[in-house]
Amino acid sequence: MSQWVRSLMTHDEIRTWLEEDRSEQLDRLWARANAVRRENVGDAVHLRGLIEFSNHCVRTCGYCGLNSTNRRIQRYRMTADEILDCAHAAASYGYGTVVMQSGEDYGISALWLADVICRIHRETELAITLSVGERPLDELKRWRDAGADRYLLRFETSNRDLYDRIHPPRAGQDRSDRFELLRQLREIGYETGSGVMIGIPGQTYDDLATDIEWFGRLELDMIGVGPFIPHPAGPTALLPPAEEGQVPNTEQMAYKVVALTRLLCPASNIPSTSALATLNQTEGRELGLQRGANVVMPNCTPTRYRALYDIYPAKACVDETAEQCLHCLRARIASIGRSVGEGRGDSPAYINRLATT
Ligand code: SAH
Repeated sequence: MSQWVRSLMTHDEIRTWLEEDRSEQLDRLWARANAVRRENVGDAVHLRGLIEFSNHCVRTCGYCGLNSTNRRIQRYRMTADEILDCAHAAASYGYGTVVMQSGEDYGISALWLADVICRIHRETELAITLSVGERPLDELKRWRDAGADRYLLRFETSNRDLYDRIHPPRAGQDRSDRFELLRQLREIGYETGSGVMIGIPGQTYDDLATDIEWFGRLELDMIGVGPFIPHPAGPTALLPPAEEGQVPNTEQMAYKVVALTRLLCPASNIPSTSALATLNQTEGRELGLQRGANVVMPNCTPTRYRALYDIYPAKACVDETAEQCLHCLRARIASIGRSVGEGRGDSPAYINRLATT
């Protein structure tokens, strides 16, 4: 029974793979990750329609262009009707899920978002994923009760000091604990996703190997990783790289992390992320899908808002319409001999977890 059998790799083995640069060795890693992906989650590539519905944010994260100290971006918040239009469009394109993502925006009340979730739930068959930052437990529960299925919250890095530097606490509040929040999200019944950025200044190979170990330990249903892309409005650019063993924020490093994540978490859903497509617009998405990933997230945000959701510069697909994204991604998936997934595309890790609890 190869299913559910995860590779047992020690910290040092993971780190050695992250440091590996010989192409014949890496070809072995890609092939193994691709085979484990096929055995456990199949050839279908699930499409998630991404709706970036607000770029307001109370946080001052050093990595992200939406941070509240950035006075240079125009802020927007989509209306409920605009979001519903996007959800209907996503359903008409055959997507099984919408991902509602925003800055950490308390202008979005728990009640308002619960109402939007109810409407999407009532009017479509879509699975609903939220990615709206660190909100209080009662709000997370309310949204789950309203019909939200999944929650994405990257822990960004497992190095606590680095995390505190790049993700400072809000004024007057304690440092945040995303590991604890992830545990709570799972307990409430969300299909739970997390992930990290690769090549944050100050992040070492040991840190990144520990991140990947955490993916396995947390038994995540979804894992999104992507290269860190410096934003001119983010103070992170000012942080010095680690003196020893700084991880580069390269495309190659991102593929290694995708592949190792697949080996450690064989039944999780793993997207080939936009940050990867941003570094290699020609074939970044496809290479991610051939090295362990099984999900892509076509952007459904109305074109007039897209460029304003400026988490990092030169983001892939900012000038395209939702329909263009759909056609482009379908063609890319077909070009590598894969099929487009049907239905909600719950992760086998989650389905298995439900069956055994
Ligand atoms: N407010 C939500 C959503 C943030 S955007 C939250 O905090 O969870 C989603 C993800 O984009 C972040 O979790 C982060 O991992 C990634 N991201 C943000 N800025 C980035 C950058 N400069 N380069 C690469 N990825 C970035």
